[in-house]
Amino acid sequence: MSNDCLFCKIIRREIPAKIAFEDDQVLGFYDIQPSAPVHILFVPKKHLDSVMQATVEEPVVSLLSDRAVKTAEKLGLQPTGFRLLINYGPHAGQTVHHLHLHLLGGAQLSHL
Ligand code: 5GP
Ligand code: ZN
Repeated sequence: MSNDCLFCKIIRREIPAKIAFEDDQVLGFYDIQPSAPVHILFVPKKHLDSVMQATVEEPVVSLLSDRAVKTAEKLGLQPTGFRLLINYGPHAGQTVHHLHLHLLGGAQLSHL
């Protein structure tokens, strides 16, 4: 937990967010500025700055993708498809420094 981290504040319910998924390790909440009809951010409850802290010893990306895929199935996105995305650093445009996996779907997405 980091005191001044935006996503830690959402995890602690100090800032409101629309929750899509929660268990003891992961929170999934709707992005405040959605880039697709369904745009959910999956974050580990334990603060990690970025994907650079996700290692074999800390296999958090598979945890996030597992929860994202299950949520996508629950929301009916599986037949038409969806995108999972992690930004790291300035070139990718990471703006919040708490590791998060984007789940995007619900419409045709622009090809990367
Ligand atoms: P990044 O650009 O770091 O990969 O993604 C950060 C995401 O967090 C952005 O898509 C942005 O819209 C979202 N975001 C920023 N502030 C808030 C907030 O206060 N609440 C929610 N739900 N999402 C936020
Ligand atoms: Zn944090």
